[in-house]
Amino acid sequence: MNDNSRPSLLTTVSDTPRIRRRKTRSVKVRDLIIGSEGPISVQSMCATKTQDLAATTRQILLLWENGADIIRIAIDSRRDVEALAEIRKQTDARLVVDLQESYKLAKAVAPFVQKIRYNPGHLYHHEKDTPVREKVKYIVNVAREHDLALRIGVNFGSLDPAQAEHEGDPIEVALTSAKEHIGYLEDLGFTNYVVSLKSSDPNDVLEINSRFAELYPEIPLHLGVTEAGMLPMGEVKTRVAFENLLARGIGDTLRVSLTLPHAEKHQEVLLAKKIISDVYAGRFRSVPRFEHDGLNIISCPSCSRVENEAFVELAQKVKEMTHEFAAKKLTIAVMGCRVNGPGETDDADLGLWCAPSHVNLKKGSALLGQFSYDEIVPILRREMEKLVSERGL
Ligand code: SF4
Repeated sequence: MNDNSRPSLLTTVSDTPRIRRRKTRSVKVRDLIIGSEGPISVQSMCATKTQDLAATTRQILLLWENGADIIRIAIDSRRDVEALAEIRKQTDARLVVDLQESYKLAKAVAPFVQKIRYNPGHLYHHEKDTPVREKVKYIVNVAREHDLALRIGVNFGSLDPAQAEHEGDPIEVALTSAKEHIGYLEDLGFTNYVVSLKSSDPNDVLEINSRFAELYPEIPLHLGVTEAGMLPMGEVKTRVAFENLLARGIGDTLRVSLTLPHAEKHQEVLLAKKIISDVYAGRFRSVPRFEHDGLNIISCPSCSRVENEAFVELAQKVKEMTHEFAAKKLTIAVMGCRVNGPGETDDADLGLWCAPSHVNLKKGSALLGQFSYDEIVPILRREMEKLVSERGL
């Protein structure tokens, strides 16, 4: 795969008269600038197992040829790093790794990538006696040494447990967490970073990114509605946030997160490009806020961490089974793994999160039980019927 071999699909919008992008710093990801001096870049993420070299390389090619400017890969182990080294030999794509708990892997992955994303909410699980500031310093030193960009990736599904004083207000927790980590990076004199503040609720994404843009006008923003789910609702949710933000000049790079089979993952990239070009042509499809009265299905876009390949099919079956509940005001979450599964399902009326050989079923934050992939859908249906009757929906 070669950088010159794909069509140029970058969306150059900085000179359009209609929308004035907010003026930010430039963050360098190899030859790509994220910030007002560059185009709005589009990102996506491999859903394949990182160690499945053939599948992951194929996935990167699919995303890259369809115009993804940066492609994310999840790395959780030394074996993943070894796979990454092999993948690197086969692609020129700009790669970003997603480090969740294993911040120490930053050094090992650095020679193979252009950017590292870390999640402030996940820096607590390992080495509990090491202060978070020290862990961030480690990542920053690696980034500096290898000329990498960083993303502080705050996610409402895995918020920083240390921000307990704002409990119950995820927007305040997320903003406080971002501010804390910006402080760490700025104190270290490191500025080659972007921030993302993602929620599965587009209204939250809209609010928190608007507030952030006012607080930190100079810091480039990576936009995302996480776990937007399946089409068509995944597009609706994403447009609600992106159209409103992009039209106000907010957003320097973005990812559309959709639950899709691997072979269709590039739809994320195509939709992202379509939304950007629609906004810059004045074509809006969304309403100012996401006022959705009926059934709301949140499902993660899947990635290499997905615990069982049956996840996408399960999400699809849930969507089909729940058609008859379309008018009921219920939120159902379907998540692929333990990283965001437990947190993101807490706020749903009923949540499923996948383990290797079973599916955890939750009602709010309470675990109702663990069921096989074959039996879970009718059990979910019974629980939905119970909720409808209990609440008189
Ligand atoms: S919930 Fe797990 S499988 Fe789904 S996108 Fe997040 S990390 Fe990947």
